[in-house]
Amino acid sequence: MSNPRVSFLGLGIMGSGMTRRLLDAGIPLTVYNRNREKAAPLGAAGAAIADSPRMAAKGADIIISMVSDDRAAREVWLGEEGALAGAAPGAVIIESSTVTVGWVLELAAAAAAKKCEFLDAPVTGSRMHANAGELNFLVGGTAATLEKVRTALVPMSKTIYHIGPVGSGARLKLINNFFSGVQVASFAEVLAMIESSDLDRARSLEVLTQGAMASPLVKTVAARMTGPDFTPNFPLRLMTKDLGYAIQEGIHLSVELATAAGALKDFQKAVAAGHGDKDMAAVVIPMRRS
Ligand code: NAP
Repeated sequence: MSNPRVSFLGLGIMGSGMTRRLLDAGIPLTVYNRNREKAAPLGAAGAAIADSPRMAAKGADIIISMVSDDRAAREVWLGEEGALAGAAPGAVIIESSTVTVGWVLELAAAAAAKKCEFLDAPVTGSRMHANAGELNFLVGGTAATLEKVRTALVPMSKTIYHIGPVGSGARLKLINNFFSGVQVASFAEVLAMIESSDLDRARSLEVLTQGAMASPLVKTVAARMTGPDFTPNFPLRLMTKDLGYAIQEGIHLSVELATAAGALKDFQKAVAAGHGDKDMAAVVIPMRRS
């Protein structure tokens, strides 16, 4: 497709940045968000605003969803006013939300019944990568379908990885976030230990964040956990969701994710303490001695 008409469902932290990139690339864009207020700035920047996912999907060549979880995705695709009801045969349906493999397979079957093509294409990267068009797409589906939509993914991406058949993008994304969530939770425990001891925090962190175990993610969360600002780049409630989905996928593959279960407990504690809408770095807050 040379100049595809794109419809985008979900203008949260990620969707708002991604749609800006599409507009900047001159791609004709229609957007939908449950809370309509969030669509207004995109409308002012040139996007058409739809009242429902179904209306958004009408006339689109490519329909992309970027919403919270399985439940939200089911709502925007298959709800009474869902996008699949408005999608034309031949349109390409793309699920970019971080969701379960089970949901992706169900949606792919529903898309096929409507004679639409399907890709799961979740992303790695966060708010700043979405704003800068530097996300990594993990794509499940056929190479031919990916080639059809590549021109629409390029303005949002640093790298587009074709992982394998439908469901493989979603599966790798859950593995990626399992690995991330465990690192963030374990670093929060490390920090709480340091702060509860007589160790010098700055000196200790200098050693740890320059050591072999300091991944780029650990370096980023170290800065956030020691700073005062927990404005979400990646909301804590969404990492909690991802760890739960990853554990579910582990069960499906007969692999016990014991470290994910431990990390999930830390994140659930933080959600229960009222920190779900803060950045995932806030997982450290309930661990700290007040
Ligand atoms: P967010 O800021 O919380 O936005 C969530 C979006 O989902 C909003 O547009 C919200 O609409 C919509 N939504 C939630 N429930 C809905 C429902 N029942 N029906 C219709 N729409 C609903 O989340 P985000 O950070 O943009 O993340 C979006 C997806 O990307 C998630 O799957 C997340 O795991 C994944 N992801 C996030 C990051 C990150 O760093 N933030 C990175 C990679 C992947 P309202 O505005 O109306 O609430």
